[in-house]
Amino acid sequence: MMMEKDKEIFELVKHEIEREEYSLILIASENYVSEEILEIQGCVLTNKYAEGYPSKRYYSGCRFSDEIESIAIERAKTLFHAEHANVQPHSGSTANMAVFYAVLNIGDTILGMDIAHGGHLTHGAHASFSGKLYRSVGYKVSKKDEMLDYDEIRTIALRERPKMIIAGASAYSRIIDFKRFREIADEVGAYLMVDMAHIAGLVAAGCHPNPVEFAHFVTTTTHKTFRGPRGGMILCKKEFAKVIDSAIFPGIQGGPLMHIIAAKAVSLKNAMTEEFRQYQEQIIRNAKYLCSCMEKQGYRIVSGGTDNHLFLVDLSNKGITGREAQEALEKSGIMVNKNLIPFDDKGPNTTSGIRIGTPAVTTRGMKEDEMNIIAELIDRVLKNLENEKVYDEIRENVKTLCKKFPFYSSIYQI
Ligand code: PLP
Repeated sequence: MMMEKDKEIFELVKHEIEREEYSLILIASENYVSEEILEIQGCVLTNKYAEGYPSKRYYSGCRFSDEIESIAIERAKTLFHAEHANVQPHSGSTANMAVFYAVLNIGDTILGMDIAHGGHLTHGAHASFSGKLYRSVGYKVSKKDEMLDYDEIRTIALRERPKMIIAGASAYSRIIDFKRFREIADEVGAYLMVDMAHIAGLVAAGCHPNPVEFAHFVTTTTHKTFRGPRGGMILCKKEFAKVIDSAIFPGIQGGPLMHIIAAKAVSLKNAMTEEFRQYQEQIIRNAKYLCSCMEKQGYRIVSGGTDNHLFLVDLSNKGITGREAQEALEKSGIMVNKNLIPFDDKGPNTTSGIRIGTPAVTTRGMKEDEMNIIAELIDRVLKNLENEKVYDEIRENVKTLCKKFPFYSSIYQI
């Protein structure tokens, strides 16, 4: 690494490399990018101002930026069968903001999944711009099976008459019926925006239905299951191309991050490969298997299982909070996040559950056998809360397991 000059930061980054290498990352929104993606994100395109779009820039010297962005756009359109793609959003939140900005007026009604039931902040939560600038109404999962109840969503839509319905989630483990969402949107005259940030990799690989066919707008991040650089993307029908592009620039962003767009292009190409398809299938197999192992150990799984890359564990029958579990697991080298479960009686800082996802451990090459080991390690930690000796032992076990599946150690010589 070239960073030795700033020892303070260099040392911290070194610790982070070691943390990532020797931890079990089970945070559903995280992943390990390839060496190729690391490299391209650090390339000279970071120097370039390219406000505007290919062949319509405000600066000189954009020839190569134009070509790179055009390739990224074409790859995104091909991969997801979209009529139009904007690859400039700096993040998933910005992508969502741009869609709202493009077609809504301040004060319009939006209907999204309640954050306490799995939705994202930007789907109308009161702390976010989406809940402050718009009149936001939420739908929940059903009490009966903790899954989306489309009849109930339709009833709310008919009552509230939203201008935009948002489908997609940060903590929902089941297949989402985008066709049904579109039927509801059409019935009430609303736009349908699908935020596929979590499942973009699964969608690209054909492991989850593609929302592009049904939604007016599809937004995503490129860094979760998709395994690209941190960033966002918007896909839409041709008729919305102009309003979406202007909403991103000059609407809410200035210069695009050309080094990130180049990395998005690389990750889009990678997502077209057979290897990527197999990787996404393994993510799901691992999630299902880990989920069943946890269930066998007496943990209640929200909605009883998973169809995708993540699941929620309800810890209330164990007398543990999500926060206690997260902290104990972190001390043992296992990274999960505390998460509200549907109808949680605790607040978002405490929670009754944890969210577990398999994209990162699958990237390292772990399969069902390792999921079994991981479930046992989690169970031992949760049965020995506040036992530092057990945490130390588990941390050693985690390190041994991680060493069998090295990832960054060869690049960074740690
Ligand atoms: N949409 C969903 C469904 C997410 O889960 C997230 C992030 O976790 C986002 C959007 C926001 O992405 P970002 O963190 O890049 O703003």
